[in-house]
Amino acid sequence: QALSDSPLLAGLNPEQLAAVTAPPGPNLVLAGAGSGKTRVLTTRIAWLLQTGQATPGGIMAVTFTNKAAKEMLTRLQAMLPINARGMWIGTFHGLCNRFLRAHYQLAHLPQAFQILDTQDQLSAVKRVIKGLKFDEEKVVPKATTWFIANAKEEGKRPRDLVPRDDLGRMQLEVYQAYEDQCQREGVVDFAELMLRTYEILRDNAPVREHYQRRFRHILVDEFQDTNKLQYAWLKMFSGRPDVNGCSVMAVGDDDQSIYAFRGAQVSNMADFEREYRVQRVIKLEQNYRSHGHILDAANELIARNSKRLGKTLRTDQGQGEPIRIYEAASDFAEAQWLVDEARQLRREGGPLHEVAFLYRSNAQSRVIESALFNAGVPYKVYGGLRFFERAEVKHALAYLRLIENPNDDTSFLRVVNFPARGIGARTLEQLQDAARISGRSLYQSVTAVPGKAGANLAAFNGLIDAMREATAGLTLRAIIEHVVQASGLADFYRTEKEGQERLENLAELVNAAEAFVTQEGFGKDAVAMPVDEGAGAIAQGLPTAVARVDVLPDAETGEIISPLVAFLTHAALEAGDNQAQAGQDAVQLMTVHAAKGLEFNNVFITGLEDGMFPHENSMNDGESLEEERRLMYVAITRARKKLHISFCQTRMLHGQTRYNIKSRFLDELPEASLKWLTPRNQGFGSGYAKQYQDAWASGKGLGSVVGAGAQPWRSGGGQGSGYNGGYSGGQKWAERRPQDEFKDLTAPMPKAMAANRSEGGFKVGQQVFHNKFGEGVVLTLEGSGPDARVQVNFGRHGSKWLMLSVAKLTPIE
Ligand code: ATP
Ligand code: MG
Repeated sequence: QALSDSPLLAGLNPEQLAAVTAPPGPNLVLAGAGSGKTRVLTTRIAWLLQTGQATPGGIMAVTFTNKAAKEMLTRLQAMLPINARGMWIGTFHGLCNRFLRAHYQLAHLPQAFQILDTQDQLSAVKRVIKGLKFDEEKVVPKATTWFIANAKEEGKRPRDLVPRDDLGRMQLEVYQAYEDQCQREGVVDFAELMLRTYEILRDNAPVREHYQRRFRHILVDEFQDTNKLQYAWLKMFSGRPDVNGCSVMAVGDDDQSIYAFRGAQVSNMADFEREYRVQRVIKLEQNYRSHGHILDAANELIARNSKRLGKTLRTDQGQGEPIRIYEAASDFAEAQWLVDEARQLRREGGPLHEVAFLYRSNAQSRVIESALFNAGVPYKVYGGLRFFERAEVKHALAYLRLIENPNDDTSFLRVVNFPARGIGARTLEQLQDAARISGRSLYQSVTAVPGKAGANLAAFNGLIDAMREATAGLTLRAIIEHVVQASGLADFYRTEKEGQERLENLAELVNAAEAFVTQEGFGKDAVAMPVDEGAGAIAQGLPTAVARVDVLPDAETGEIISPLVAFLTHAALEAGDNQAQAGQDAVQLMTVHAAKGLEFNNVFITGLEDGMFPHENSMNDGESLEEERRLMYVAITRARKKLHISFCQTRMLHGQTRYNIKSRFLDELPEASLKWLTPRNQGFGSGYAKQYQDAWASGKGLGSVVGAGAQPWRSGGGQGSGYNGGYSGGQKWAERRPQDEFKDLTAPMPKAMAANRSEGGFKVGQQVFHNKFGEGVVLTLEGSGPDARVQVNFGRHGSKWLMLSVAKLTPIE
């Protein structure tokens, strides 16, 4: 038939084809990693458009990360020459933002409402706790922030909650006051974006019916990770399928459910099947992503989980290469190995963006980043400490936000005295009290403060007003440049000792804005457009279709919004992208959570140690351990061609050295699919591992093992040429000799590390002299003979790793 002749459909297997061309109605695709779920979803959108069954404006597609949403758009545009305008493809938060901008009056928000990121949110909660005069030791700000977010994700407002104890009562009070504060300031946090959208749809029949008529097709990727509110939200948009015929396709994999800790409920899949009356669940069993060894490992690992819906995966791609496993002595050595591998892959011609370094926790990235940085290997971090979260960037953004909305107290407090304007803590306390009493913003309350202090505050208000006037009608770039100068930030950083890098970041902010403007198409067609076909009639107070110079339509939707607001939103929502390195071919660094749905030719899973991965908080609880295992399954299945896994014997974490044993997950992989680059179990005499486990089980922690004088690590001895085993004849180390030191990789190791070994006349703790770096103290010894390496703390020069055979190192005394 004509409908199934489309070239779009070529190459799909029969199950995929069935899913792509499924008749309108509820559809559930349940299938394992790499089986083409996302591809099916994207192809279905293209097919619906091409066959005229849907218009771009009638489709909504939701994914979890910005990277995934972008990926989907890119794949889609590769299939069809479509205009992405009007298509609602994005993350839950992104789509909610879009919805609330269009319905800001219904939402009781200022049109230029700002989004609080997690940092801002925490500081806002802290302010509330202080205002209520609660003890921060008791009402812990972080925990309270979680409490609020959880409540919102459950769809609960303060009035829906009943406190169980005193703490609960106080937290509830904070929640209420925090809500009032956000409302007063015109800001919303991430959870609020979702909840408020949901409530508008729930409580406003005309709006709900409009969207239910509009979106004939809703497609949700990674459905296994939706939480309660997201599912309820979806139902608002889709309506009851039997009543209004909206066609919803949900695709997911229960084995990749990794957000239960944040309220995701895999049971949404079963609920969807039942509530939407899905006739037949579509299963895909052919994996197109990974080679056989990788798939075998993934399958064997996940088979250990008990609660599974059950799926099979097979591949036609052949076994490929076994999974390489590398054991490093320390996290620094691990990082260095990663750098070497990345360089090697680059030499072999593989692009760096096909190389991913994955880790369980953000804290692991610092060491890896610093090794990459020192080696000059470009990298890009997703998540973690992000460009838009750097202090100087946040300062500049705060000024920009105040231009848009002077009632944003969070931004006000951030910069009212930065750079210093003689506005002290006492003045601010006075101001905050006045604001609290009158229920107004800080900006509105400055006249309440008398004297010199009041005059300084008024001058700050004047500065913000002047900036607003001076920047009206300017391009985004010019606005930011003006603000960086007029705020005094530029002058301030020019005189600061380490200000240069901060100035560069501010310049980078201008670049990011420029890139944003080009990417989003602002300024390309500066014509006002109707907000949204038909929505205008029902959504009271939509922006009218009048074009001002600084008010342009959003390239995608035609929604009218100023580029500055759009950019500020982008900074809050898409902070995950490190703009500074955008465009460069770079190694991809991210947590396993952030890697969901993505794929790379070369994947390195790092830190495979018990306590790291699985995470120590999850090791002793069956359900959490299963979630960790699913996380490992996600990590493994990101790899197309080659998978590499590393772990280390010692790791600095939160200022302490930990002695690790390798992750239990390594034991759960099929031996036949592994290739150990280092001899098995070198290092850990089983005695040590046993003591370690005993210490762990007894709750005494490791201190007791070390304290008891056990040999902390490498007790087995005989590591000798360990590093070379199975590892291209030791060339790696030889290659490294010309730059036999790695800068800044480390913090000093504690005394407990002082394993009593000596090498070439050196011992841990010994004073040494180096021609270039002067005097230092030996921190670590590794390897032996020609491979012996020492880590020395040279004080002013920091600590360095040196090859003993190369470095001119002499013992003192
Ligand atoms: P995950 O569970 O990790 O999100 P997925 O099920 O969404 O995986 P996709 O990302 O859609 O899987 O597909 C995995 C890879 O296989 C992609 O590179 C995709 O282009 C490719 N692929 C999917 N189906 C086919 C096919 N029929 N022919 C060739 N390649 C395919
Ligand atoms: Mg996918």
